Amino acid sequence: HLIPTADFALIGLAVMGQNLILNAADHGFTVVAYNRTVSKVDLFLQNEAKGKSIIGVHSIPELIANLKKPRRIMLLVKAGFAVDAFINQLLPYLDQGDIIIDGGNSHFPDSNRRYAELKEKGILFVGSGVSGGEEGARYGPSLMPGGHEDAWPHLKNIFQSIAAKSDGEPCCDWVGPAGAGHYVKMVHNGIEYGDMQLICEAYDIMKRVAKFTDKEIGNVFAKWNTGVLDSFLIEITRDILLYDDVDGTPLVEKIMDTAGQKGTGKWTAINALDLGMPVTLIGEAVFSRCLSAIKTERVKASTLLTGPPIPDGIVTPENKDQFVDDLEQALYASKIISYTQGFMLIREAAKEYGWKLNNPAIALMWRGGCIIRSVFLAEITKAFRETPDLENLLFNQFFKSAIEKAQAGWRKTLVLGIQYGIPTPAFSTALAFYDGYRSARLPANLLQAQRDYFGAHTFKVLPEAASDNLPLGEDI
Ligand code: NAP
Repeated sequence: HLIPTADFALIGLAVMGQNLILNAADHGFTVVAYNRTVSKVDLFLQNEAKGKSIIGVHSIPELIANLKKPRRIMLLVKAGFAVDAFINQLLPYLDQGDIIIDGGNSHFPDSNRRYAELKEKGILFVGSGVSGGEEGARYGPSLMPGGHEDAWPHLKNIFQSIAAKSDGEPCCDWVGPAGAGHYVKMVHNGIEYGDMQLICEAYDIMKRVAKFTDKEIGNVFAKWNTGVLDSFLIEITRDILLYDDVDGTPLVEKIMDTAGQKGTGKWTAINALDLGMPVTLIGEAVFSRCLSAIKTERVKASTLLTGPPIPDGIVTPENKDQFVDDLEQALYASKIISYTQGFMLIREAAKEYGWKLNNPAIALMWRGGCIIRSVFLAEITKAFRETPDLENLLFNQFFKSAIEKAQAGWRKTLVLGIQYGIPTPAFSTALAFYDGYRSARLPANLLQAQRDYFGAHTFKVLPEAASDNLPLGEDI
């Protein structure tokens, strides 16, 4: 009889799975490794996993036989059908209280469904966001687990050991029930879309308005990476811009300007529309990728449609520092708006889906290990720790002051973009949101009048304007 010795099992030996197993083994856990194509198990055992506390198996019964109870089985396979297929294969062998963790990029409604189906069978389902790519998986990812809360005491040690650390704290904590872990990962990815778009707009303004070389732009990013924008994405942008191809010219300029997407940004934007939350920056970031993708049409339009000329000398040695500082402020302020919108969405989701979410932990989980990791997130963590039910990030003193300080440079930068015809959809929508959000009165009074005019939708009257001939009115 085999005495089970393994702490947990991982199914899916592609990039993420292999690296997460090696990470766990380094932290003293014994891991069972399995894959649909079992030859990959042997290859892994003969190479990367050699000499480590990793047990390769060729079947599900073998996997089960090696696991201590409650059994902890993590799937890191292609999202969608493969996850359900493995759950169905595992079910006949599992006992009440065993745990299945889906670490793939699953859409949260699928995780809601799997959580509910498995709960009925007494199996604890956890949907965990995993971020940080290959490097993160190997040396410390950001992990965002949610699902059946009874699973957490059995996972906490493993998850927090293998996760990235930020100021000594693990970038992993319990997010909330059902599909909440995957929901938060989805919003993380949406914010990643936004951050990337903002950086691209800053690059475009430096390139086309200031006419900086890629080296100069790279050096600006290098400088920004020592300040409030210090983050993984600014750091890699610096490296990309300073990287030359073999012919000595910047490689980035040889790359086709059509952006791809796998859908998580789109899911975030769609969910924002579903929940009626103005998450405009992520929406613009998704649409910007769409616009980039219709390259043939853009090339044609570029020969037909004119805009303002962009003369030389807009940015001179005298005003260069100011221009760069203003642009930094525009990027910083827009980023504050994007995270504000992201947390507004998470807050609304908690309300809509009846989830109790751990807001300070969400910011902490994004602080390290993941693609959007940044110094900035330490301030967000602090804000939510001070006020866990903070209504809006902009109501926190730090962010209120930061955006007010940034606003002059932000507006000046946008004016430049508008004047010279450089598209800044993310910067612009961020400012429009800021100006709208801080308006006690918006022109929706006129809109309501229009709706009533053509559709007899009726309207509500401002309390101070109510009278006998104009009663307060009905909610529409
Ligand atoms: P992947 O390319 O998304 O998936 C490959 C794995 O899925 C292989 O183990 C493959 O098994 C298995 N698989 C595919 N179709 C299957 C099916 N129909 N039935 C059973 N198994 C099937 O691998 P990955 O890039 O390592 O990502 C794993 C998960 O993590 C994905 O959900 C991904 O979205 C997510 N993720 C990836 C990253 C990243 O940077 N790559 C970051 C965060 C999250 P075979 O070997 O037998 O084909």
